[in-house]
Amino acid sequence: MPFDYAPAPESRSIVDIESNYGLFIGGSFSEPTSGGFFKTINPATEEVLSEVAEAGQADVDAAVAAARRAYDKTWSKMSGKDRAKYIFRIARLIQERSRELAVLETLDNGKPIRESRDVDLPLVAAHFFYHAGWADKLEFAGYGPDPKSLGVAAQVIPWNFPLLMLAWKVAPALACGNTVVLKPAETTPLTALAFADICKQAGLPPGVVNIITGAGETGRMLVEHPDVDKVAFTGSTEVGKAIQRAVAGTKKKLTLELGGKAANIVFDDAPIDQAIEGIVNGIYFNQGHVCCAGSRLLLQESVADEALASLKRRLTTLRLGDPLDKNTDIGAINSSMQLSKIEELTASGEAEGAERWSPTCPIPDKGFWFPPTVFTNVTQAHRIAREEIFGPVLSVLTFRTPEEAVAKANNTPFGLSAGIWTEKGSRILWMANQMRAGIVWANTFNRFDPTSPFGGFKESGFGREGGVQGLGAYLNVEDPS
Ligand code: NDP
Repeated sequence: MPFDYAPAPESRSIVDIESNYGLFIGGSFSEPTSGGFFKTINPATEEVLSEVAEAGQADVDAAVAAARRAYDKTWSKMSGKDRAKYIFRIARLIQERSRELAVLETLDNGKPIRESRDVDLPLVAAHFFYHAGWADKLEFAGYGPDPKSLGVAAQVIPWNFPLLMLAWKVAPALACGNTVVLKPAETTPLTALAFADICKQAGLPPGVVNIITGAGETGRMLVEHPDVDKVAFTGSTEVGKAIQRAVAGTKKKLTLELGGKAANIVFDDAPIDQAIEGIVNGIYFNQGHVCCAGSRLLLQESVADEALASLKRRLTTLRLGDPLDKNTDIGAINSSMQLSKIEELTASGEAEGAERWSPTCPIPDKGFWFPPTVFTNVTQAHRIAREEIFGPVLSVLTFRTPEEAVAKANNTPFGLSAGIWTEKGSRILWMANQMRAGIVWANTFNRFDPTSPFGGFKESGFGREGGVQGLGAYLNVEDPS
């Protein structure tokens, strides 16, 4: 008998969203000089949440100047021990305000509260704690006896993990002694603005962190600013390539974390029930808006039918709907633009001969939604097997031998992550060695930890974030990756 779930909505009364937000420059909020504002909406309801400033060239200049002043006068002169105190304070404030931040993230992004509360926010705090610990120990990180900071870091982040991507960027930058100008994505600025408030609450010296909101054009002005020493970008491969071209020939140090088309490879000796959970987590977590998502499932032919039947059974139990409901598994697609992209690519899947399947699930009338979807009869030439869909869409292929699995897994311009499911340790090690991917998970998927470096090969970008390796991206040393 199927269970009926009673609604279990998380209250949104804990968040206090202002009707409009200025730019956080030099330690306080100010109106944009361009005078422009844009709306940010809740993608689950299309309700306008707030109006947010759009930074123009003069605002970008002011933010970079504030970061430069703070770098020259305060932050670069402060001891690592003192920097650590501020970063620890930020980490503790994030923990104290984590319920508020989780609700705000869910409202602005559309991800289920279960994920923002249990995955995003604990990881955000963990990244600040981890990097606070490094601030006074940089001489032991393997970069020489006295590694130096770079200066002003320009950071541009996407909308899929707004506060977590901020943490991945801001925490190591501050720990290594740099100051920051960060631009959140246009559709998800609210948690970055709440973070600005946390910086004030922590008494962080003015200008060490500056948050400027805006669209792609603001991001372009920021990364192209001549007084920036470091550019860190996470987002699409296309914009990443444009940024790489823009910083070529300058002194700017660059890290790019771009798209992916990861293979999640299941061998016939894998614990199938466990693998099914890993497949679901691999592609339906965060509506598939995950750069390292396991979007290509490679099933060994002898277990393909059994695994597919189990997967489909499991997908019928997923609950799509109100992201603030604690029972919800699949939330809203972040924007109408992203929804159109998913619709276009899935239509191409059918047009090219793949077979589409989704469980029957009610789709809310308002907002942007896409049901969990599985494509079978997929060939390597299909667009749905080659392009990043960035939605809850799985493309299933099969293989017979480990060599064939390796060839298919690596047959992509991307190289961010891979998953291997088998009970044989020797096969895990052999496969992991063959994978052209920055992260390889064995008998699990989508596990993150601040101590572990994250980054890609090929068109997935370069440079590492997290771990000792990630520190090198914010120090005046050779990049280790
Ligand atoms: P983008 O790469 O356009 O956006 C990422 C960030 O870069 C945003 O803050 C964006 O601002 C900013 N930006 C856009 N253009 C420029 C520019 N010329 N110079 C500097 N910064 C810029 O990704 P989209 O949001 O458009 O998503 C498109 C596709 O990218 C997705 O469908 C998905 O396939 C992929 N993607 C991959 C991600 C990953 O983690 N690897 C994350 C997000 C998307 P703004 O939001 O205002 O446009």
